Amino acid sequence: MRRQLVMGNWKMNGSRAANEQLVSTFLSLWQSVEGLEVAFAPPAVYLPQVAALLASSKVVLAAQDVSAHVDAGAFTGELSGAMLVDIGCQYAIVGHSERRAYHGESDQQVAAKALACLAIGLTPVICVGESLAQRESDETLAVIGSQLDAVLNVLEPAQLKNIVIAYEPVWAIGTGKTASPEQAQAVHHFIRARLGEQGAVVRLLYGGSVKASNAEELFAQADIDGALVGGAALHAEEFFQICQAA
Ligand code: 13P
Repeated sequence: MRRQLVMGNWKMNGSRAANEQLVSTFLSLWQSVEGLEVAFAPPAVYLPQVAALLASSKVVLAAQDVSAHVDAGAFTGELSGAMLVDIGCQYAIVGHSERRAYHGESDQQVAAKALACLAIGLTPVICVGESLAQRESDETLAVIGSQLDAVLNVLEPAQLKNIVIAYEPVWAIGTGKTASPEQAQAVHHFIRARLGEQGAVVRLLYGGSVKASNAEELFAQADIDGALVGGAALHAEEFFQICQAA
């Protein structure tokens, strides 16, 4: 069975004081359960702080990005997968639509980052998603298919069990507009089929305005194995409620 995963992507939010408050409130509410993994992805500069706050819990740590360069060297500003593992990360988000849009990350760069994660034992959470214009012109599955293929072209089939894919429709991120459970399920089903024989073991997360009020119906879909949560992950009680819905 696929273990569910709910990951909070804090994006560029937080401070030492706010992080401490968020994590301690969440941990006072949360009892870990079999079958569900919870992860926090704070800004990189706070990873050591959050690692320490999570040390006695089962909540795990994720980075929001990783370098495609595996070997240490002259790459100013980059963080290698080895460094992220060194400070306690188990996951790294790659190819978030905000990285694709604001930093020009291509499908090939995203695939290289996924490979860099796998080389060091980090689990990449590979984000895919279509824009509103692409959905409206019926290109959703073609876009998702080519974003996925770039990754599938460089991975060995045996590596697929070590990746997570997050479907995040760009039009649903931070907009309050969630994909309906049926819309999300349709894309998740497509992704799983595209993964071929290994698809049955790959965890597929939904992201885009996940809230306490819509989490349960999203999680009830056959191919949705959890969520990548943005804004609602900054509120301990609401993030707790989303985890409880899983
Ligand atoms: P929101 O939950 O704020 O829409 O963000 C989703 C997201 O981008 C998570 O990575």
